[in-house]
Amino acid sequence: MSAPKQNLKIVRYGNPILRQKSAPVGRVSEELRVLAEEMAEMMRAANGVGLAANQVGINQRVAVVEVEGKLIVLIDPEITSRKGEQVCDEGCLSLPRLFGEVTRPAEVTVRARDLNGRWFKVRGEGLLARALSHEIDHLNGRLFIDRVDEDTLHWLIRTSEGGEPVVQPTTLAEALKVFAAAPEAPPEKEGE
Ligand code: ZN
Repeated sequence: MSAPKQNLKIVRYGNPILRQKSAPVGRVSEELRVLAEEMAEMMRAANGVGLAANQVGINQRVAVVEVEGKLIVLIDPEITSRKGEQVCDEGCLSLPRLFGEVTRPAEVTVRARDLNGRWFKVRGEGLLARALSHEIDHLNGRLFIDRVDEDTLHWLIRTSEGGEPVVQPTTLAEALKVFAAAPEAPPEKEGE
């Protein structure tokens, strides 16, 4: 028996759920397994490396991360250790087309439960460390724009299919205005 799929969509900046601390999951249900599967599909369809449940409107501590083809489902995750630092351009599926440099730990260890409710530990470096940190931030109501180096904030705009994306510097205030004006679908071309 499988639970019916929900028609989920990725919420954008401006939806208050992105600023809420998500609730612990408790018992791992069949609904949760279906949710995790659907989140993984949505993440892949959007070419993301991670997705948190509050990004699809569900206020529970669940996230999926996929780096180098390895899917990790994280239930009630927490970072248990951090090492070093890395600085890299980062974006978010809830703030489409906006990117900027964020400092993250170079390496993290995360403790979480899997879909069978068993605790496990995962250690990640590089992009995996970044994705784990970014998604666990989501579960605590934090977004990459809270940590971004504002001087590096920019839109990446694809003007044509297969064309080189255009980089357009912006400020946080300007960017947030664009999202506030069109919380469901920010304009393809920034600033309009
Ligand atoms: Zn994100």
